[in-house]
Amino acid sequence: MKKQIAILGSTGSIGTQALQVIEEHPDLYEVYALTANNQVELLAQQARKFHPEAVVIANEEKYLQLKDMLADLPVKVYAGAEALCQIVESGPIDIVLTAMVGYAGLRPTMNAIKARKAIALANKETLVVAGELVTALAEQYHTPILPVDSEHSAIFQCLEMQNPVHKLILTASGGPFRTFTHEQMKTVTKAQALKHPNWSMGAKITIDSASMMNKGFEVIEAKWLFGVPASQIEVVVHPQSIIHSMVEFEDGAVKAQLGMPDMRLPIQFAFSYPKRESLSGERLDFAKFNTLTFEKPDLNRFRNLALAYEAIHRGGNMPCIINAANEVAVAAFLKDQISFLGMSDVIEKTMNTASFIATPTYEDYVATDTEVRRITAELIASSKY
Ligand code: NAD
Ligand code: MG
Repeated sequence: MKKQIAILGSTGSIGTQALQVIEEHPDLYEVYALTANNQVELLAQQARKFHPEAVVIANEEKYLQLKDMLADLPVKVYAGAEALCQIVESGPIDIVLTAMVGYAGLRPTMNAIKARKAIALANKETLVVAGELVTALAEQYHTPILPVDSEHSAIFQCLEMQNPVHKLILTASGGPFRTFTHEQMKTVTKAQALKHPNWSMGAKITIDSASMMNKGFEVIEAKWLFGVPASQIEVVVHPQSIIHSMVEFEDGAVKAQLGMPDMRLPIQFAFSYPKRESLSGERLDFAKFNTLTFEKPDLNRFRNLALAYEAIHRGGNMPCIINAANEVAVAAFLKDQISFLGMSDVIEKTMNTASFIATPTYEDYVATDTEVRRITAELIASSKY
């Protein structure tokens, strides 16, 4: 039986690569639903090619345009955030790939978990915002959460059922500013920040990678996915992005997963687990990649990474606070409203201003996200960062 897959965010970097995986294995996978935020043309093209049962466009203003473009096809067309949350519950779906960006991924992911659909989780923000709640829900409903993030997929591939982990070692490329001085980082542009050395990804995660907020978020993601405290999760800078992450066991043995930087592999592994399937593409040639190097991350230059560790340490709704502040700061940086280093300033100020809640409920997370977006936007508007 073919696995029926719903892709939330099918027009993005992860979404389009997931469709390549499905195209390569028409005997294994079938698209049940595709969703996007704004990109009607691409979504319509994808629907024409993959024949899903349903498509959802989150932006309701684009509904008529999409409906019109797909009028000759037997596909159900829906619009709005509510429809997106409902589509994941559809009976035949086996796997929901959460490939949308940001806080907006939280509610549909929770709905899919409750509907007992296996989650192929790319949307790390879901676990940053509400990791405790989401993993408890997954346990309650016996719903598996399979990592798509390359580091977490690497760790997942290295784990041994019977042996506890001593340490998780997350590798980080260091991004485009790895070798920049603090002085140089003061004036970096959006164009420079959007040029990742090893990966081609959506704009938000590319900026997060340049600031290393992405790695901080990945520490939080790893904590919840694998139940390992942050004190046992180490970040090591590995500029070649060939080792995707490592696990150290109690006897000192370290297992690493290596491969070319290609997100199709972790996406496919989340679909095919526990099996491995064939996959086209360039293979790792050790003659070509004959030097693998490692460095300690610099928490003084990459303050976002330090702030993420602080958010974990303070706990409660602090990771939710840092996520919302970061979403607003990154959007402002992409609109040239604040500087690269200004993002850390504004995030830190928000963390010290927003209401702290030690044991948040889902409603508290929703309220926190709203409050923080307002605070961060006001800070950005009121002063020069
Ligand atoms: P992207 O910007 O390329 O694509 C985002 C997708 O989500 C698009 O299809 C867009 O239409 C949809 N979307 C955006 N906002 C939405 C909203 N409010 N409601 C509904 N849909 C919305 O992003 P990406 O690089 O594919 O990343 C997606 C997620 O995967 C992020 O959480 C990111 O952190 C994670 N991730 C990405 C990579 C990568 O290589 N790109 C690697 C690891 C993890
Ligand atoms: Mg990653």
